[in-house]
Amino acid sequence: MRTPAGFECKYFYSDYYRGRSTEECRLLQASGQKWTPDLCRTCPAPGIVRANACEFLQLRATVARPFGAAFSRRVQVSAYCEKTRRDVQEPHVGCGECHPIPPIFDVKK
Ligand code: SF4
Repeated sequence: MRTPAGFECKYFYSDYYRGRSTEECRLLQASGQKWTPDLCRTCPAPGIVRANACEFLQLRATVARPFGAAFSRRVQVSAYCEKTRRDVQEPHVGCGECHPIPPIFDVKK
């Protein structure tokens, strides 16, 4: 569904049928976080899902205020691979187990 920010997001749920105005973020709801529509504007989750469609990737979201109270609240996303049972450092790319990164992209140090 399309979020209030205009992006497609599989975690967003809305119901406007017959005067209802239900809007929810199922990703934040799963971790007990409070969602407000402004959070969608800078949320990285839709971009991660577009870049990485791996069926084993599980996202977890928290709401934080980077650099203290001077900045607005933002969604921070971490990822976990259910297949390898480990945290994924680069959610856009994945853990490399199912879709190994070709050696041409290896950076030699
Ligand atoms: S906060 Fe992020 S995950 Fe939740 S509905 Fe908005 S864009 Fe989707």
